[in-house]
Formats: sequence, structure tokens, C-alpha cells
Amino acid sequence: MEKNFIEVMRKKLIDAKAELVSNLITSSVDFKSLVEKLDVRDMVDSASDDIDRKMIEAIGIQDMKRLRLIESALIRIEQDKYGLCMRCGKRIAQTRLEAIPYAIMCIGCQSSEERRNR
Ligand SMILES: [Zn+2]
Repeated sequence: MEKNFIEVMRKKLIDAKAELVSNLITSSVDFKSLVEKLDVRDMVDSASDDIDRKMIEAIGIQDMKRLRLIESALIRIEQDKYGLCMRCGKRIAQTRLEAIPYAIMCIGCQSSEERRNR
């Protein structure tokens, strides 16, 4: 994956996260104190169920999911794994990443995942 491309995606992700978080902060006072206590790494850690539950209450499941995906994508950039599918390890199409910077699965895995959850 090209470094320049990753850098562009990283900026997009950070912007998206900032936007999401600022929306949340204005929509919930409680959430602000929650965010301040949060360590990024806690959010991808399954041990933080309590924080998850509180955040879901505060922000709703859709935004919560999106926030987690953005966090995961940022961590994958740090680990040099950005753009690789989490399930099969293949490259995610660049056009897909441009449309969804926080995509962590290739289109094939994503659709089989969605079928499974239905
Ligand atoms: Zn895949």
C-alpha cells in the first residue's frame, strides 16, 4: 500500500473521528467525561465492556460501531496493516478504502459477514 495513500486515509480517519466525537460531546455532557477518561486502546479491548455499554447508551449503536471501526483502522495504520483485510489478509481495493476509509474487510469478506449476521 502506498505511503501517500495511507497518509491521506489517516487524515480522513482522524477528521471523521473528530467530527463524530464532537457531535457526541455536544449531544451528551456525560459522554464528554467518558471520552476524557478513555484511552484509545481501551476501546478495541474487549475488557472495556462497561465503557462500551455507557457509550452505547450515550451515542447509539451506529455511531459507536463507526467510532470503533475508525479506531481499529487507525491502529492498523500504526501496525502497518492498513488496507489489508482483517479476515483473509488480502488487499482491500483502493476504491473501497476511498469510499469507506475505515473498511477493515475486503468486499468479499464483508458481504459474507453480513449474510451471516442476517
Ligand atoms: Zn477478505
